[in-house]
Amino acid sequence: MTTIDDRRATDLPHQLLIGGEWRDGSAGTFTDRNPATGEALVEVAAASAQDVDAAVRAARAQLEGDWAAMPGTERGRILNRTADLIERDADLLCRLEALDVGKPVGQPALLDIPNAAATFRHFAGWADKITGSSIPTAGYFGRPTHSYTVREPVGVIGAITPWNTPLMIGGWKIAPALATGNTMVVKPAEDAPLSTMHLAALLEEAGLPPGVLNVVPGLGPDAGAALTAHPDVDKISFTGSPEVGRAIQIAAAETFKRVTLELGGKSPQIILADADVEAAVQGTAMGLFFNQGEVCAAGTRVLVHRSLYDQVVDGLAGAAKAQVLGDPFDGATTMGALINAKHRDRVLGYIEAGRADGASVVAGGGQPDLPGYFVEPTVFAGVDNDMTIAREEIFGPVGSVIPFDDPDEAIRIANASRYGLAATIWTRDVSHAHVLAGKVRAGAVWVNGWAAINPALPWGGMKTSGIGRELGWSGILANTEEKAVTVIL
Ligand code: NAD
Repeated sequence: MTTIDDRRATDLPHQLLIGGEWRDGSAGTFTDRNPATGEALVEVAAASAQDVDAAVRAARAQLEGDWAAMPGTERGRILNRTADLIERDADLLCRLEALDVGKPVGQPALLDIPNAAATFRHFAGWADKITGSSIPTAGYFGRPTHSYTVREPVGVIGAITPWNTPLMIGGWKIAPALATGNTMVVKPAEDAPLSTMHLAALLEEAGLPPGVLNVVPGLGPDAGAALTAHPDVDKISFTGSPEVGRAIQIAAAETFKRVTLELGGKSPQIILADADVEAAVQGTAMGLFFNQGEVCAAGTRVLVHRSLYDQVVDGLAGAAKAQVLGDPFDGATTMGALINAKHRDRVLGYIEAGRADGASVVAGGGQPDLPGYFVEPTVFAGVDNDMTIAREEIFGPVGSVIPFDDPDEAIRIANASRYGLAATIWTRDVSHAHVLAGKVRAGAVWVNGWAAINPALPWGGMKTSGIGRELGWSGILANTEEKAVTVIL
């Protein structure tokens, strides 16, 4: 088994995978860096529009090849084997995510890797259960009819993924698409493509026929845009920023592609007066600082009942100060580096905007003296929901604590956002939690915990947070076309 003990990634796949062949890209290479040091890890092959076209042709050929003929039970077996292989290579994959994303090595062991394996197992179970229905119809010019529906693959699916949890989100797109018999061209994020390429190698090892899944690493405006514009791609499944999501939807309209967009968030965490404050502070801090705050569902607007405000501000400031920043491979590290220098500077710019708008920094607010792209975990108090730091997605370890006086006001503030991905409610009153859950405009609501995600549950956002859902039965619907058949008897 390959290892990365020497913290170099050159022995792992870093080329294009097209039609079962690993090969160089015709757009040269791009440099993949270690965010914790700023040093180059590996030169990754870059796909051009021509390479993307070759990948799409390989994927399309398999829609009429061995793959199309393969029964769902066998597709399920391949997905289950892939889950086994993810578990076999869990240590390697954790290290790869730490190296490429800059996150502490223990975190992918808790989330990314088990979630990816669970996602492949979940969809392995669906693969032979994609059914239609029989629908009574009133006949056709006096003759009886027999009508039924079937669900068919959408076709060639282009998946464009982000860098924050690349293996996990790659799995969210790949497992349901393959379970339902589609073929794929995957464009991983240029900042952290390595785990996706290793996942592709595991799918090959699990017996996926060549050409069913192709990988085209490359730059967004080149490889990503070429995939989006390609006339033979039937659907784009995208996770990333609203700006790129909008461009993808506009481009996809030209060729009537189906589009699923999973975009960002500015998720509220509402702490009601009757909450278990200790648990709420701990969970809220996790929602701010886990994965360096580079989480689409990060709970960055902490809405606190005024009676608990000072206590929660102090608790979160303490949690921020307790974070240990440093080498992602050091077991003591609890928070890693941001993905690149540009993103670090963007996050620091938001911290300055918070100060300029009159919010007070109660923890962090700067850059530690470390190599790489670190930003201190930062908590702002005295925040108004109209400030830039409360309106815009920062995608870094920066939280805003906002007071409210009654639950209706909390819901009004929670919903006063262009985003609607997730929300958390902290309360001891379960009935009240259900009532409030019904009032929050978000694709996922968690009560007394942050980010209780599961592959059986639909995932996606309202408003600017996205269009469509992936995972669970919704993932099956999103990856199939429904056909109605009527036989005139
Ligand atoms: P990004 O939009 O810059 O990039 C995402 C992907 O799009 C990358 O693979 C990139 O190469 C590609 N891309 C860039 N320009 C493109 C173009 N013109 N055409 C086609 N593809 C293009 O986002 P990012 O910086 O990778 O990720 C951060 C964003 O992603 C945040 O806004 C975050 O909230 C969001 N995100 C959302 C979820 C979710 O599930 N909702 C999960 C993770 C991240």
